[in-house]
Amino acid sequence: MSNEPADVAVLGGGPGGYVAAIAAAQRGASVVLVEKDKVGGTCLNVGCIPTKALATSAGLLVQATRADDFGLSIPNAAIDLPGLMSYKQTVVDQLVAGVEQLLHARRVKLVRGRGRLARPSMLAVEVDGGVQEISARHIILAPGSLPIDPPIEGRDIPGVVDSTGALSIDTVPAELVVIGGGVIGLEFACIYEAFGSRVTVLEMASSILPTGVDETIAKRLQVLLRRRGMQIQSGVTVERVQRTDGALQVVASGAGGPTVFQAERVLIATGRRPNTQDLGIVEAGIGMNGRAIAVNDRLETTVPGVWAIGDAVGGWMLAHKAMVEGRVAAENTTGGDRLIDYRSVPNVIFTRPEVAGVGLTETEARGQGAEVKISQFAFSANPKARIVGESDGLIRLVCEAGSGRVLGVHMMGPHATDLIAEGALAVQTGATADDLAWTTHAHPTLPEAMLEAALGFRGGAIHAHSR
Ligand code: FAD
Repeated sequence: MSNEPADVAVLGGGPGGYVAAIAAAQRGASVVLVEKDKVGGTCLNVGCIPTKALATSAGLLVQATRADDFGLSIPNAAIDLPGLMSYKQTVVDQLVAGVEQLLHARRVKLVRGRGRLARPSMLAVEVDGGVQEISARHIILAPGSLPIDPPIEGRDIPGVVDSTGALSIDTVPAELVVIGGGVIGLEFACIYEAFGSRVTVLEMASSILPTGVDETIAKRLQVLLRRRGMQIQSGVTVERVQRTDGALQVVASGAGGPTVFQAERVLIATGRRPNTQDLGIVEAGIGMNGRAIAVNDRLETTVPGVWAIGDAVGGWMLAHKAMVEGRVAAENTTGGDRLIDYRSVPNVIFTRPEVAGVGLTETEARGQGAEVKISQFAFSANPKARIVGESDGLIRLVCEAGSGRVLGVHMMGPHATDLIAEGALAVQTGATADDLAWTTHAHPTLPEAMLEAALGFRGGAIHAHSR
């Protein structure tokens, strides 16, 4: 490698880091990307992509088992585990290879090895038993996050897995206990439930799903999951997992005293924390925000020339949030001047049904003193939802009472994670309910539910009974 410093060096090739590298290269910069494992990071390899592949198979299996609802006969719809694992891995491998090709096409130099910040303008990378020094005018830190290791005794015994372990399914457990009722825990709960496990979710907080999710929707999801037979216990703290007579037992304490839950497999999904240790970050004098790297709204750390993005800076731990931060950092390290804008970052949860939200929840908007009007529309009145046989759920628009400006959109229902894109656009552009209502939506489609929710702001929803 030449001694000439690169314009930009990126540490970590997840969705934050690889997007930053490509975007900086698109702007003419010479870019080096350091990755110790596979490009694509958590998201492509053990996060978003493999979970959504499994969720897709789970959804198809559920549909196939109710084929007669659609006038079809699919007698032996069943899970084929080797086939499932192979499908999941093929999708992952194709996407990882695709990112490698994109990096190559943009002439991003990929250095494979564990890197650390040697000083503010240099990364030191362990390569082939030696250390390669990479100098750069700007360094973007994108080392991602790691699972939180909760203080639960017995978390290392066989049969107790984290989210990565839960992706490799060799047998479907008869009973799965999921510790943690957040996004990852609930997504796996719905996947294993579809494959035939009896699922129990144990959550320490008083309700499932994190703050930032519309409370009405979180409650409705809980009702639906329970109605399907999932056991959900909130307000319980898991103390230990033990193995007795070949079976696992999860011992938890709550208001009613200790309870023991039987399990064949236990998934610990208690959240993730920024991966910021042993990377030379503190030694370089970079300010921290707890475990997260502190950044300003241009995503520069407290040390000029060092930038940070993605899960490592905290906030929503979502791939698309990391990606937009990657684009912002790429602009700012290549002569641009862009501020990060989190207003339109959607939260997406791939449960069955899906949940999604963007902007302020009703509670947040009222908490900020806004005069708010809520307009909601049920998917049961949407023709396409009826056609696809998934009419559970609703859309809630949180609007400024006077102007109708859309402050937030929250939904649960079929393809909610796709439908939220329109909500994100509305929030980002300051659109009003009238703007949405006078945008013609194709028929028969799921987005018509958004149109109806917008019409409802002035009491004009066509396909809803007046109250
Ligand atoms: P990461 O993707 O974690 O990438 C960091 C990269 O840095 C890794 O490749 C790592 O190997 C590398 N690295 C770390 N340290 C070093 C070092 N010292 N030297 C060299 N390389 C290093 N988000 C969504 O938006 N949608 C979803 O559906 C979704 N589902 C998820 C499901 C699961 C089970 C999990 C665990 C996460 C999910 N996420 C989802 C979250 C998403 O994966 C993360 O928010 C996203 O990957 C963060 O991107 P990042 O670039 O900040 O970090």
